[in-house]
Amino acid sequence: NRQWVLRQRPKGVVQDGDLELVESPIPDLKESEVLVRTVYLSLDPTNRTWMNDAEGYLPPVGLGDVMRGLTLGVVEDSRSERFKVGDVVMPISGGWADYAVVPEAGLRPVHRAPGLPLTANMSVLGMTGLTAYFGVTDVLKAQAGETLVISAAAGAVGSIAGQVAKQRGCRVIGIAGGPEKCAWLTDELGFDAAIDYKNEDVGDALDRLAPDGIDLNFENVGGDIMIAVFNRLKVHGRMAVCGLVSSYNATRMPPAPNFGRIITHRLNVQGFLVLDYAPRAKEMVAEMGPWLADGKIKWKVHVDDGLEGAVSSLNRLFTGDHDGKLLVRVSEE
Ligand code: NDP
Repeated sequence: NRQWVLRQRPKGVVQDGDLELVESPIPDLKESEVLVRTVYLSLDPTNRTWMNDAEGYLPPVGLGDVMRGLTLGVVEDSRSERFKVGDVVMPISGGWADYAVVPEAGLRPVHRAPGLPLTANMSVLGMTGLTAYFGVTDVLKAQAGETLVISAAAGAVGSIAGQVAKQRGCRVIGIAGGPEKCAWLTDELGFDAAIDYKNEDVGDALDRLAPDGIDLNFENVGGDIMIAVFNRLKVHGRMAVCGLVSSYNATRMPPAPNFGRIITHRLNVQGFLVLDYAPRAKEMVAEMGPWLADGKIKWKVHVDDGLEGAVSSLNRLFTGDHDGKLLVRVSEE
């Protein structure tokens, strides 16, 4: 069983030697335990934050421990009454490994969506979809006619969030890196406008595209991009702080917005975690399912083959060198 183990806390971008791929024997199953063969490993920007020795929403991954990661797999062996060989499952706490021995209480069954590939459960109908859907509908409470700006808009969460907001009747402006990603947002996903932050000044573009200001910000990036949006939020504007991906590899804190605007403009700035919305997944599926079936929501996954490449795959999230929700195929379905 190959497992990626955290050897040292990365400084900046994850480097060779920060994690090590080791071989370990698979222990015998105890009563009610299940052996899960990993099929897909989800790579998420937050994985990088778990490697730091810092206070977070989950404890840091310990040195010498298997790297934590969301996985989807197939039951290969079972001493559980609830799960049988062949079942498709998601461990609540998965890891970067070929196999995992999991107590039955730590497993969730996976219900395949009719007509959709299994990767949907790891993206648009999984954590990505939950984050996007509830970020727009519950955190921002987006209303028809409001102007919403989303950063990392061509990414997994951002691309779905923008489409949910379009379904809600918002005017949606996406910020993404490069002309291809921006063209995808406007030409295929129906965003009203896209700003290529690698080739144009975000503030100038926002002034042009939203001269009366911005009602809503779905923030995925942080740093200068976030400040440019924040400084243009209208009175009573609302901001959902979903992620700050530009700072996850940073060794120094990035600049912060001037919080005085929260007072002067009576802004509502709210952070949120998808974990809090997991119990409401059915609500998302009920509304998103028909949109997916009707082709009203489009989604992409970027699948890299091979657990051995997981570290370089992870680093794609910080260069933008991926097209859609980033997954590693660890074994065949
Ligand atoms: P994405 O698929 O969006 O991948 C990350 C993207 O971020 C890259 O493709 C890149 O896009 C962009 N990016 C990376 N570094 C920078 C930078 N320095 N400046 C500008 N853009 C950058 O990942 P996810 O959809 O999984 O996650 C998006 C955000 O949502 C992250 O911040 C993540 O932490 C957060 N998140 C939060 C959750 C929550 O519960 N609060 C749950 C899930 C995700 P480009 O090519 O356009 O530069």
